[in-house]
Amino acid sequence: MNESASARLPSPAPSYLSGLNPEQRAAVEATEGPVLVLAGAGTGKTRVLTTRIAHLLRQRRAFPSQILAVTFTNKAAREMQHRIGALIGEAVEGMPWLGTFHSVAARILRRHAEAVGLKPNFSILDTDDQVRLCKQVIQAADLDEKRWPGRGLASQIDKWKNRGLAPHEVPTQDADSFADGRGVELYAAYQARLLTLNAADFGDLLLLNLKLFRERPDILGEFHRRFRYILVDEYQDTNVAQYLWLRLLAQGSRNIACVGDDDQSIYGWRGAEVGNILRFEADFPGATVIRLERNYRSTGHILGAASGLIAANRSRLGKTLWTEDAAGEPVRVTAFWDGEEEARAVADAIEQLNREGEKLSEIAILVRASFQTRSFEERFILIGLPYRVLGGPRFYERQEIRDALAYLRVVHQPDDDLAFERIINTPRRGLGDTTIQTLSRLARARGLSLLGAAVEAVETDEIKARARSALRALMADLARWRGQLETASHTDLARTILDESGYTAMWQADRSADAPGRLENLKELVQAMGEFPTLAAFLDHVSLVMENEADQTGDQVTLMTLHGAKGLEFGNVFLPGWEEGLFPSQRTLDESGIAGLEEERRLAYVGITRARRRSFISYAANRRIYNQWQSAVPSRFVEELPPEHVERSAPPGLDPRGPTRFDVVEADDFGSRATSPGWRRAQSAFAADPRARRSTAETQRLVDAQPALLAVSDPAAQKFGRGDRVFHQKFGYGRITGVEGNRLEIAFEHSGSKKVLDSFVTKG
Ligand code: ATP
Ligand code: MG
Repeated sequence: MNESASARLPSPAPSYLSGLNPEQRAAVEATEGPVLVLAGAGTGKTRVLTTRIAHLLRQRRAFPSQILAVTFTNKAAREMQHRIGALIGEAVEGMPWLGTFHSVAARILRRHAEAVGLKPNFSILDTDDQVRLCKQVIQAADLDEKRWPGRGLASQIDKWKNRGLAPHEVPTQDADSFADGRGVELYAAYQARLLTLNAADFGDLLLLNLKLFRERPDILGEFHRRFRYILVDEYQDTNVAQYLWLRLLAQGSRNIACVGDDDQSIYGWRGAEVGNILRFEADFPGATVIRLERNYRSTGHILGAASGLIAANRSRLGKTLWTEDAAGEPVRVTAFWDGEEEARAVADAIEQLNREGEKLSEIAILVRASFQTRSFEERFILIGLPYRVLGGPRFYERQEIRDALAYLRVVHQPDDDLAFERIINTPRRGLGDTTIQTLSRLARARGLSLLGAAVEAVETDEIKARARSALRALMADLARWRGQLETASHTDLARTILDESGYTAMWQADRSADAPGRLENLKELVQAMGEFPTLAAFLDHVSLVMENEADQTGDQVTLMTLHGAKGLEFGNVFLPGWEEGLFPSQRTLDESGIAGLEEERRLAYVGITRARRRSFISYAANRRIYNQWQSAVPSRFVEELPPEHVERSAPPGLDPRGPTRFDVVEADDFGSRATSPGWRRAQSAFAADPRARRSTAETQRLVDAQPALLAVSDPAAQKFGRGDRVFHQKFGYGRITGVEGNRLEIAFEHSGSKKVLDSFVTKG
């Protein structure tokens, strides 16, 4: 609260200490030896870490380069650096070891790559590369890729790496979880491939650090001497590999300070071990353990609601939290008829807060599952309320949504080359770069779209037999789906396309942590389509939405997942979708039972405690899934909120007849909403940018009206006759044995007889 005030004071030595309470101060001043700060949300744990660094620097106990500080995200690291600077009244330069586990580990690895068999310029693979490599390994092992997809192996390897296990360390009972017991062998092959490629994946960064430290005590010793002080935020969410890494590094100075909250451990599903925090005293005998109980962030009601909720968890240490802040407003719990109404009401409430002087940056919507952002994003775009999605792309920019839209676009408009290129080999069907190059060349030569070129090419030998039959199957699928445009509803058609193309199956076979979320996004997409009368109307809508580029700089509402919101705070927090199945998530309950339920409850606790002044919880009584209404049951977490801290309401709109649909507002309708700041913003944006009104259909018409712009002339229409000697880039020289329109039958000198297209050969 008075953070900025204290930062502004001129600083006679430890002014930064005076704002702290006695426990916080003790945690800052206990610079030597192991320290654990175990405390609830908003008690100043992160602030303690920041102040501790400032203190170490001020007291000249360490140079900036001698402090290792790990935070959960890069954003948190930057924020910390900034705050340290504010505390000691000068910019902090050169804290090279302040960052995430991965960034620090990568830095260490670059220095000593050779010790683990890499070169210092090794590349770091992203998930896509990782999956591709896994696929190669699976193919090389002669395994059935359909049964054992690359993604499955990649995610299994990640899990092992999170647990700090190199291939030879995987316990036998674990080993047969993939490919009938061949998982470890594949893992070893994968690691060997990485070495030859001079590459490391994300999990390797830590794993190779562990290897380095274990095999090279001299190098570990160097880091022991370097890191005089080690600090760790969000310690409850460290996984085993990270934990081992910290322990090895802390053996040097033993000056390790960790802060965390067992009630906020929310990454169990990704291998985090809350046990790490509980074991701290055993790992570091003589550790000072400090508890902070005063919450500085939230009002009494918010804290009361959160504390009451988390009390339902059995496995927890239990903490007392109090605040000197006023009780403030009770947590508001509101029921809505359905999700659309919820989105509309939340947007209205945000505009109201904004009108009352709240900055949009002080407002966040935190969702359990990323597909939930869609309805809010659409509402915000409609009313012109600036927003950002933190920690991930906006809904229509997500990979799986773009893929699905590409299928719909090709079916709707066969000449949409960009869309066709996107889906031609997604999911993989053996139509690789060579095929696409051949098609593009043909398309250019003959002034056709890619799909048009494909229609011609499948009749010839331009494309290898295997790819040709895959392409023929795809063309048949597309033709069939196009045929259904008139007969089936567009939502049914979308579902058919996603299923029959194998796209849904691709993500179903994917065992990585984000695959279920992607499947949910796809369902949400189909659900969104139901709000529009036709496929064309929906596609137009999407292109308008996409055109609405987010302004990155201005005042914006934040949309993000609860997981991403850890450690952050906002004046006002909206928590929508508190329904059984959604939150707590059914998947988590199915997979992890009581432990999963408790992790979900901790997530709810994290959500409520992000708020300083106001917290709004809501749920819908009905959700539309695939165009069918299903009634939803309020989350059990709603029932668990202590009534004395909560105010419940259902707006008069909770009307069994349901909400008015299609209340899509025309651009001209701005007048009636003139009071709304969002509408005013939207209005001026529209006025300034006439393009914003133009739908893609119009753009298409413009393009259609000027065919000259796009047409490619047939290059020097060559005349070929039987007996001509010709040259083909792929098949070499040959003689024409037959001509049928633009198709030539050629006896090639080295490749036998083939059918090819005339535009692919030259007279030779
Ligand atoms: P979380 O568990 O959510 O990560 P935290 O324990 O890390 O929370 P901080 O983010 O450090 O808590 O602090 C919460 C808020 O309380 C911040 O706005 C911080 O500036 C403020 N705060 C912490 N300690 C004090 C203090 N002694 N005096 C005034 N404000 C404080
Ligand atoms: Mg914190």
